[in-house]
Amino acid sequence: MCVFCDIISGKLPSRKIYEDDLVYAFKDIHPQASVHILVVPKKHIPSVADISEEDGALLVGIMTAAKKIAEQVGVVKSGFRLVANNGKDGGQTVGHLHFHLLGGGVLGRMC
Ligand code: 5GP
Ligand code: ZN
Repeated sequence: MCVFCDIISGKLPSRKIYEDDLVYAFKDIHPQASVHILVVPKKHIPSVADISEEDGALLVGIMTAAKKIAEQVGVVKSGFRLVANNGKDGGQTVGHLHFHLLGGGVLGRMC
């Protein structure tokens, strides 16, 4: 369906950090911070704009997974950022919902 679907299914390789029933997380191929992990629902949802009410449990699962991953990679105390780019102006380049988990150093502010 898309490059992230192929990574989740194992058709394409990735550096896996975390997996559960709902979520797959792996290192970004072009890291923008010393910690840069993509937290991805296994369900193909193109972007935040495509989330529906029935995805409530999935969204809780993504956030809970992000918290566990932040603990796992040691950035809970120092802090981290979760970012979802959406659509053209938002800079989204892969059309499968994902959250960038960034940390491991002070991040520049955007807002
Ligand atoms: P977006 O630009 O949609 O917010 O984020 C897509 C991210 O996916 C980018 O940071 C890009 O580096 C990453 N990416 C794209 N293709 C691959 C891939 O095949 N493997 C991995 N690990 N990351 C990828
Ligand atoms: Zn997909």
